[in-house]
Amino acid sequence: MWKQTIVSGLVLTSVLAGCSSQEDQHSQKVTKPTPIHDQKKEPAKKTIDTSSWQATNGPAKLPILMYHSISSGNTLRVPKAEFAKQMKWLHAHDYATLSPEEAYRVFTENKKPKKKAVLITFDDGYGDNFTDALPILKRYHMKATVFMIGDLIGKHHHLTKQQLQQMADANISIQSHTMAHQELNTLAPARQKNEMIRSKRLFNKLMHQQTIMLSYPVGRYTDQTVALAQATGYKMAVTTHPGIAMKKDGMQTLPRVRISPGMSEAAFAGMLKGDQ
Ligand SMILES: [Zn+2]
Repeated sequence: MWKQTIVSGLVLTSVLAGCSSQEDQHSQKVTKPTPIHDQKKEPAKKTIDTSSWQATNGPAKLPILMYHSISSGNTLRVPKAEFAKQMKWLHAHDYATLSPEEAYRVFTENKKPKKKAVLITFDDGYGDNFTDALPILKRYHMKATVFMIGDLIGKHHHLTKQQLQQMADANISIQSHTMAHQELNTLAPARQKNEMIRSKRLFNKLMHQQTIMLSYPVGRYTDQTVALAQATGYKMAVTTHPGIAMKKDGMQTLPRVRISPGMSEAAFAGMLKGDQ
């Protein structure tokens, strides 16, 4: 089985083409790895004062919205006009938009800065996240998170270092979507660990932060991937499983709300229901 896994991992090593629309598979049961800690020192995290936050009614539920490119052309691309309407709707309905650090506090302390809150995420780090999404996010003073592919910084219509910095300056958190966007379930444990650790170190250094969140490329992972994500210091990881996230989903297997092009306002609002 191991041999087969490794061979197919080499054969199936994915091209750097973003996520497919079939992202929900994960299987391969594997043995638990021994914990591995990133020995490199990380910058101290910023403190978040949650004293004024409101306690949730039971375990906190948080919608984690999943976007990719803000453009048009396929089912993963949401046109700018639609994205603008959705952000306007969140603003009008008094949603707090959170940083990953704040989201972690929501899950672990069962309280929110406002009655309604959301974590807005973008996978892959497309350049249009800067040119098209950022101005809209800034208009409403919204926070969001970009899961950047380390090897694609400044390449192939992806965000440049300078753009990443400007986004961070506007409260957009840059987190990890690994280095090479390979489907982690196809990789041997050492290579999975390598993808997670190298990207964490890269974003720690580049963004002067402690990188705490990982998005599994194409939503693929195994039990061992989850254990490795935790062991390498990712406090949270997101999947492509649909749903409103709760701590009991597993902090390294959080579901997301997929936003597809062509959704009506009612459909968008409906996706966020059941979040309190
Ligand atoms: Zn991706």
